[in-house]
Amino acid sequence: MKIRIKTSGHEYHAIFSGDAGGELRKVLKDRGCRVILVADSNVARLYPDFPAAGIPKFVFRAGESSKTSRTYLELSNAMARAGMGRDSVIIAFGGGVTLDIAGFTAATYMRGIGYLNVPTSLLAMADASIGGKTALNLKSGKNLIGAFHQPSAVIIDAGFLKTLPEREWRNGMAEMVKHAVIADSGYFEDMEKNAGSALKFSDFSYTGWIYRSAGIKAGIVERDEKENGVRAVLNFGHTIGHGLELASGCRIPHGIAVALGMRCESWISSSIGLLPKTEMERIDALLDALKFPRVAAKVNPGSVLDFAGKDKKNRSGAIRFSLPSVIGKMCENNGLWTVEVKEREILRALEKICSA
Ligand code: NAD
Repeated sequence: MKIRIKTSGHEYHAIFSGDAGGELRKVLKDRGCRVILVADSNVARLYPDFPAAGIPKFVFRAGESSKTSRTYLELSNAMARAGMGRDSVIIAFGGGVTLDIAGFTAATYMRGIGYLNVPTSLLAMADASIGGKTALNLKSGKNLIGAFHQPSAVIIDAGFLKTLPEREWRNGMAEMVKHAVIADSGYFEDMEKNAGSALKFSDFSYTGWIYRSAGIKAGIVERDEKENGVRAVLNFGHTIGHGLELASGCRIPHGIAVALGMRCESWISSSIGLLPKTEMERIDALLDALKFPRVAAKVNPGSVLDFAGKDKKNRSGAIRFSLPSVIGKMCENNGLWTVEVKEREILRALEKICSA
């Protein structure tokens, strides 16, 4: 199975394989270039010989707190010291943090070199590995430094999920529900039917869902590579989700925050007459079936609103959301994929999901 991703001046494939190592060795053999594999400490420990013993490696401490200019400079310096030239390739092997660091380094090292994504978390397989967004965090906020730089190829092997901790699975699952809501009612129905099996985690094969999610992400990126229009729909659930993460001091993990954000934003869409109530209830019911919580405990709705007010989609002070009009379709008006919502309406929705 393969998905083709074509952007202005660049074309690559997401290759689905049960043997990522073999696939990677094949891609590298064709190129015959210098490589460095970038992985975090967990993934490097679990897969020490991937894709082959003795491959040059850069390993950093696992976690979001490593997505900084410091790790980026350490990696760039290691590459320069090893004499890696413009034809070198970075292999990004890990979750979204690894892919963002490796991708940003590839975007800037010698003004841009190639990189290959081998995602190992569900979130990275279904979402972050595709689309060429790369980023670093600053003290003042997440993803404030970044570049658009498409990978040369993405190799997706769901076999890596066997070692993924369950809490990490939630982060990917929330993004996959988002893909179904924004673009594919058939996918959503499939999730409704199979939510119970998907919760059995290690017994469930996620490849079919990852394939659908990756295909949706690829289709949106092809239409709007640099987030000037339709790509905004990928933010569904995230305006409130980011607000919840920040207002809770990051106590609420990303996937749970996005799931609560989707509940809240669907409610907003329904309450302002854009999404039928029955559709909102189906979104809520699927999130229930996947055992996502209904309430953010000890979070102040006013602080969530303040953080949502700083979201990058906002224009001239008004808070804007990407909202569904039915399951599988997002609201659009004259090429604008976000809708302005009054603070009063947002607060009413937040009061439903926040508890003192
Ligand atoms: P992550 O990379 O920190 O991985 C989560 C945890 O899972 C880490 O501890 C990691 O070591 C571990 N892990 C990963 N794969 C594993 C495996 N197979 N077995 C055992 N442990 C494994 O985080 P993430 O949730 O994958 O990604 C979140 C990051 O992705 C955020 O920084 C976010 O901003 C970014 N992101 C980027 C994009 C994009 O388009 N560039 C999209 C979505 C998210």
